[in-house]
Amino acid sequence: MFKPRKWHSETALRVCQATGKNDPVEGAVVLAERLTQECALSRPSRELGKLASWRAAKIEEIAMLDAGRLIPLFGTDFDFLIQINESHAQAKKNFSIGHEIGHTLMPDFADGPQERLDAETMTWNEESEEEFLCDVVAAEILMPRREFIPYLSSCGLQIQSLSLLAEEFGSSLEATSLGMTRAGLGDFAVIVWELGWRKSQKEESLTLSMFEEWEAPPTKYRTQKVYSCGRMSDFHFPHNKSIEAHSLIAQAANSDEVIRGWQELSVGAGKTENFYTESKAFPLRRNGQLEQRIFTMVHLTDKIPTSK
Ligand SMILES: [Zn+2]
Repeated sequence: MFKPRKWHSETALRVCQATGKNDPVEGAVVLAERLTQECALSRPSRELGKLASWRAAKIEEIAMLDAGRLIPLFGTDFDFLIQINESHAQAKKNFSIGHEIGHTLMPDFADGPQERLDAETMTWNEESEEEFLCDVVAAEILMPRREFIPYLSSCGLQIQSLSLLAEEFGSSLEATSLGMTRAGLGDFAVIVWELGWRKSQKEESLTLSMFEEWEAPPTKYRTQKVYSCGRMSDFHFPHNKSIEAHSLIAQAANSDEVIRGWQELSVGAGKTENFYTESKAFPLRRNGQLEQRIFTMVHLTDKIPTSK
């Protein structure tokens, strides 16, 4: 799932040394795997308090602007305090807890623990290698491969599996999409669509919205996130590319059902390809507002491997 990259940090180096892996991402997975195995947890999201206490950390949910915070403690029964934003959805809280536990697992952090403040988690921000690897740990803590892959295999590589797995493993739909593609069991992609403007319209809105006569252009469904695996990784689905109002994707917005069928999708450079798609609306509460959001599973064939 993750592209090969050059690593520079002491954190990445020490993760490799500690695990015998050449790739820090694989190393971070091993660190998370060891922890969930030591605690003998098959569904860690249901017992994150136990997992945290194994790292001598206690969890506290508080009112805060940030997603999470890790505070080293001295002279108490615990070595760390993990503070989590109490207003976040449970799946998001779970990921943030996993991320903060991830910090405690980083070998160089353990040598000299210092406070970590995370305005957001699950950003997969490659600029900070430690933050990126903590997201890797969080995903593996919530969705241990040894449990997640057989479960996915039994559910089938279809859109219904997304919500089933998210529920089972206590992870968000986006984290679950990543987990599904990371498992690499087939050739498919998951595209997340949200309503929005194209870049130039956004810029225009910033300058013109102060004039009364300015009328905002209608928003369209646009690609926000893409997760892919297998042969589907050969296709590039451009970011923020819109889809027509009559498309199967936009139709899913007005339905409780899964909308299936062949659909042309943009693959960049002005080209389109025909794919078999399954789309379902999963609205998202953001800043107190309910926002529409569509998840599409994109396949090369309409013969989708279903549950066994
Ligand atoms: Zn962090």
